[in-house]
Amino acid sequence: MKALIEKYNTPVPRYTSYPTVPNWKPETFTKQDYLERLEQGFAQANADGISVYVHLPFCESLCTYCGCNTRITINHKVEEPYANAVIKEWGLMTSHFTEKPRVREIHLGGGTPTFFSPANLKMLVEGLLENADIPADASFSFEAHPANTTQEHLDVLRSLGFDRLSLGIQDFDPKVQKAINRRQSVEDVNRVMKGAKQAGYRSVNFDLVYGLPFQTMEGVQDAVEKVIELRPDRIAFYSYAHVPWMHPGQRAYSEADLPSPELKLALFTMGRQMLLDAGYVAIGFDHFALKTDSLYQAYAAGTMHRNFMGFSDLRTDYLIGLGVSSISDIHNGFGQNIKAVEPYIEKVNNGIIPIFKGHLHSERDSYIRDKILDLTCKHVASWKDDSLENREYMNSCLPRLEELVNDGLVIIGDEEVRVTEKGRVFVRHICAAFDADMHGVETKQRFAQGV
Ligand code: SF4
Repeated sequence: MKALIEKYNTPVPRYTSYPTVPNWKPETFTKQDYLERLEQGFAQANADGISVYVHLPFCESLCTYCGCNTRITINHKVEEPYANAVIKEWGLMTSHFTEKPRVREIHLGGGTPTFFSPANLKMLVEGLLENADIPADASFSFEAHPANTTQEHLDVLRSLGFDRLSLGIQDFDPKVQKAINRRQSVEDVNRVMKGAKQAGYRSVNFDLVYGLPFQTMEGVQDAVEKVIELRPDRIAFYSYAHVPWMHPGQRAYSEADLPSPELKLALFTMGRQMLLDAGYVAIGFDHFALKTDSLYQAYAAGTMHRNFMGFSDLRTDYLIGLGVSSISDIHNGFGQNIKAVEPYIEKVNNGIIPIFKGHLHSERDSYIRDKILDLTCKHVASWKDDSLENREYMNSCLPRLEELVNDGLVIIGDEEVRVTEKGRVFVRHICAAFDADMHGVETKQRFAQGV
């Protein structure tokens, strides 16, 4: 496995969307066409319920490795106007809904959602849910910083229907934490984890990162051992992407402080093996779940879904993104909000939907999107019942799989491909063979390394 991971450690999209964001065609996008599509498809999407993502960008200090859209401030007066703007934006969107939304999923991401006081989070969520139906299987989640998540946060969000949370851990090594300017103790994590379970949350996720400055084999081994002891239901074990020209905070350390590519690979393979040995099941490339967790159960049942929030155990066709930089996915179109806080609030207060770019899917885009979703979530894609034109397209992509077939990662059948057990880690490379935008383009600068 180590040799294969080394071999396929090449730039490849994460396929949280298709087309991937760098391949959108903003020149053919208009907000009006996008909203027309949203209205046309709403009733059908709403039958299964929709998802809502809310971006809460504020953080009290900058973690130097951060790649998110953030606003650093210690002024908590920003909370209320921002929350009110998000509620107003939701109102602008719902005016294009053709019936009352059934909100099956909410995710609060950031930034640091727990920057907001429990009272302001309550005001925000109640404002969103005021004119919505909540199906019985709805699941709400939020990202939590272990250092500032209080029991009150946990209790208030639980009372609003939140049942999952994700804790950013990254690493426990004090030298690494100092370099990335993010300090949280095992005690903090333990406190939030215990509090969440007592409050009735059904699933806790930990985010870990490998490839951070000053990470060592011993340090990552120690962090993963501590994580295994705390036993979260899910773990995302992400690769650090060093792109200081995009995120200048990463200039706080130099490239010489980062693990070499060989060490980074060794950190991943060691951490991965430790998690597998501890009873976690690998889902996709960098996610792990206990068999008792609903993500594993959806994965095993072939009902798992993937969208801009990553893997999900609920399948919805509409994801409405609210707040700065959020992306909405309406199945045959994407729309992204402007990224700066003040212009966002101003636009929304003036009754303008703050989308600044997007993509409208062609029929071929939608077709490929469905096949890529089948590959990432079900590990099989078939086209024998599809139109002649689409079958010809899929068959024309097969020669690109030759090396993956020779390495035992994928099996080509009668107008279908099946990802092998060993190939699941490399599913993104298999998807790339069918990605119409990937061929003839220079991928190196545009997508992160596989590891
Ligand atoms: S990593 Fe998270 S908490 Fe840190 S600056 Fe980025 S968004 Fe904020």
